[in-house]
Amino acid sequence: MKSYDVAILGLGTMGSFTALQLARRQVSVVGLDQFAPPHHQGSHSGETRVFRIAYYEHPDYVPLARRSGLLWDGLSQEFETTLLTRSGMLSMGQEESELISGIRKSSRLHGLDIETLSATEIRSQFLALQPPDDFVGLLEKTAGWIDAGASIRLGLKRARVLGAELTLDNPVLGWESDGGQVKVKTHRDNLIARKLIITAGAWANQMLGDLGLPFTVRRKVIAWFDPLKPEQFQEGNIPIFAFAPNLFYGFPNIGGRGVKIGEHLGGNLIRDLSLPVMPPSAEDLDSLVQAASKVVPSLIGPWQGHDLRLLRAMTCLYTMTPDQHFIIDQHPRHENVFFAAGFSGHGFKFAPVIAEVLADLALEGETALPIDFLRLRGRFQKSRN
Ligand SMILES: Cc1cc2nc3c(=O)[nH]c(=O)nc-3n(C[C@H](O)[C@H](O)[C@H](O)COP(=O)(O)OP(=O)(O)OC[C@H]3O[C@@H](n4cnc5c(N)ncnc54)[C@H](O)[C@@H]3O)c2cc1C
Repeated sequence: MKSYDVAILGLGTMGSFTALQLARRQVSVVGLDQFAPPHHQGSHSGETRVFRIAYYEHPDYVPLARRSGLLWDGLSQEFETTLLTRSGMLSMGQEESELISGIRKSSRLHGLDIETLSATEIRSQFLALQPPDDFVGLLEKTAGWIDAGASIRLGLKRARVLGAELTLDNPVLGWESDGGQVKVKTHRDNLIARKLIITAGAWANQMLGDLGLPFTVRRKVIAWFDPLKPEQFQEGNIPIFAFAPNLFYGFPNIGGRGVKIGEHLGGNLIRDLSLPVMPPSAEDLDSLVQAASKVVPSLIGPWQGHDLRLLRAMTCLYTMTPDQHFIIDQHPRHENVFFAAGFSGHGFKFAPVIAEVLADLALEGETALPIDFLRLRGRFQKSRN
């Protein structure tokens, strides 16, 4: 049986960058995935991801996001391609909304540069955006979008060049640890590693079943539209935008491939991941179109139930925790097993820094990066009883 220093279970967003990080640290690493990332079955489909630092969800994410931003820029240089494009992001809502008050809190605590715009200023600067009069907008100019597919593809390619062994289309069926080493059973064969890192995304519960973690998986729909007024959505003319309270969001018309829109809140619960995820339905699209017609009417124009402006749509999975914060920790019963999961629809931007954290934990047993608020510890006691 082949043996390694570290095995990584799942080579999607977090696993691909963890493989790269470990390969850089010159340990023998094997990565396994049931599919061939990047793919459309998990949580990284949909081409683009928002990068932002002024974090409304919790100010403690700010130092991690800052570090991640530096790492994204470094990776762009290393791969000689722009992975993170700083288009800016405008978040809009009532002053007391969770979105606006949360961004203000993080910006105040961490001295972030955020510009406040009134609804009138927004409507005149960005013609596509039509917030109601009682909304304000917070503009984070250094926010932007990440090319998700290229990031994972290039991350895995570089990991391979640096010596990582990557085995794709090979589902892991289970693992067992005797404290000293972990035996990983895959569809093709078995292997042994001194440490195991589990980054299984929506499948985390299957691979960490004995912990009974309170993850729920949600199906999300995203869609791209050919804008009715293309100049208003051109890159450079509009930042990424998000509107409270449902966090309806959209991107510029990147590369002329359409304006991507979605909603952060909501989504159907997925109870059985062995069944195919239902493709986007007319009802899903109708809900997105309704939201768009209120605040970005020049995207689709008067909507009559036809799909002339719809270019494409797809699904993607969120793995939610009850408090919507990630869980990153050592396995409470197996000291040589580590995991990162429950990214609750906002993890992609952190992938390079999470990779550093996981490599630190697996190789050193600790990390200097500030992740204590994301550890499992006493969180979710009630929901686990
Ligand atoms: C529509 C949508 C929009 C989003 N927007 C943003 C955004 O703008 N900004 C942001 O920061 N985040 C965003 N996110 C969230 C972000 O994409 C996720 O948090 C992140 O992709 C999660 O990474 P992951 O590694 O946990 O999962 P994945 O990338 O899905 O990787 C998990 C991998 O594990 C593999 N795996 C699982 N089980 C097994 C097994 N038994 N054997 C072998 N392999 C296995 C899977 O095949 C998969 O490749 C969004 C998510 C969605 C769905």
